[in-house]
Amino acid sequence: MNKIDSIRPVFVDRIPKLLDNGVVYISQKYATAAHNCCCGCGTKIVTPLKPRRWRLETQGDSVSIYPSIGNWSAGCQSHYWIRDNRIDWALGFTPAQIAANRASDQRMRQQAHAERYRSERGFWGRRWDALKDLWQALTSWF
Ligand SMILES: [Zn+2]
Repeated sequence: MNKIDSIRPVFVDRIPKLLDNGVVYISQKYATAAHNCCCGCGTKIVTPLKPRRWRLETQGDSVSIYPSIGNWSAGCQSHYWIRDNRIDWALGFTPAQIAANRASDQRMRQQAHAERYRSERGFWGRRWDALKDLWQALTSWF
C-alpha cells in the first residue's frame, strides 16, 4: 500500500472496469470521473460530475476535482484533494466527521425526496398542503 502524490488524467468515453493506479479517468460523455483510491488500497472511487457532487476543472493537461475526495465508507478512510494533478493529503476523518458526512448524504436524499413529493403534488396539492399547515397552526393556538 503506497500513497501516491500525483495523478494523471485520461479522457475516455466510458470508464474502464479496471483502473490503473495514478490515473483519473474522465468521461465527459457520462459526466463521471473515476480513479483508484490514492492510498493504494485499490478501492475504485467514482465521482459523478454534477451539481451538488463533484466539479472538475481542467487546465491543459492538469485536472482538479472539488470538493475533496473522501473514502470514508471503505476501510482506508482516506481524505485528499486533487489539485492540478497533485494529491494533497488531508488528515483522516475523525468519527465525528464521518458521522457528519453520512448525515449530509442523508439530508441530500431527503431533500430530493421532498422535492419529488412537491412536484408530484402539483399546484392544487401544494395549496391544499399549505392550507392544512395554516389550519394546524391556527388550531394549535386554542
Ligand atoms: Zn484507500
